[in-house]
Amino acid sequence: MKKHFYVFSLSIVTICCAALLCGCKTEAPRITQVAIIDTLLGGMYDGSATVGQLKSWGDTGIGTMHQLDGEMLVVDGVVYQVKYDGSVNRPADSETIPFATVVNFVPTKRIKLENIKSFKHFEAQIPQYIANRNVPVAVRFTGKFSFMHTRSVERQKKPYRPLIEASKNQAEFKFENISGDMVGFLFPKYVKGMNVPGWHLHFIDKDRRCGGHTLDFSMLDGELEICEVYDFRAVFPAGSDHLAKLDLNKDRGQELKKVESSREYPHLL
Ligand SMILES: [Zn+2]
Repeated sequence: MKKHFYVFSLSIVTICCAALLCGCKTEAPRITQVAIIDTLLGGMYDGSATVGQLKSWGDTGIGTMHQLDGEMLVVDGVVYQVKYDGSVNRPADSETIPFATVVNFVPTKRIKLENIKSFKHFEAQIPQYIANRNVPVAVRFTGKFSFMHTRSVERQKKPYRPLIEASKNQAEFKFENISGDMVGFLFPKYVKGMNVPGWHLHFIDKDRRCGGHTLDFSMLDGELEICEVYDFRAVFPAGSDHLAKLDLNKDRGQELKKVESSREYPHLL
């Protein structure tokens, strides 16, 4: 009996060690967002959560940095900042974030994709692979892109202007024949005010040297991983005067549409 107990205990220890070594994820995916899209639209650009906190909440995601300093994305647990000048930084754990959405990514489906002609084509193709379109969906898309068009935003100084003003000076980047990763989310329309309804994707190239907020792309081939999420929370900066004084009753849907898309791609959102 005692021997059986030892064998059983050893098996449990072995399984636990193997799980730790292979980094197996056992927890169900949960989206955590820092503040909401309407606080960002309202000009709340001071960072609240730290990069270190963000990494503890998820290994995959998108957002921006303190003072709207560029486009941010999290890939494989590493946080990247694509700045207005196109350069890529790895912010320290102590740096802060005014708005971001991350998830502990657990793929529920993997799909091989070929010849995606545009973002619009992607938007039309992907819903068929999503079992439940009424919950948030996180995606990771790794592949060879024949074309990639991104943008980044300029760091802001106080007094902060609303995002619709601040984003007028965005820098746009176009790349050809580039491999890399896109991460982001597809949110149902009901998140309006909290997050971005529809697709919101950020890109970084394989060498982690360029990227940004995705405006358009075409892809030769790649793999799309889908993660349907049934657990969703927002973290607000406690004690923030800016948050207390912000008018969040206003409908900022039209502002968001102008900020997230561009004249070239009015279909976004
Ligand atoms: Zn973005």
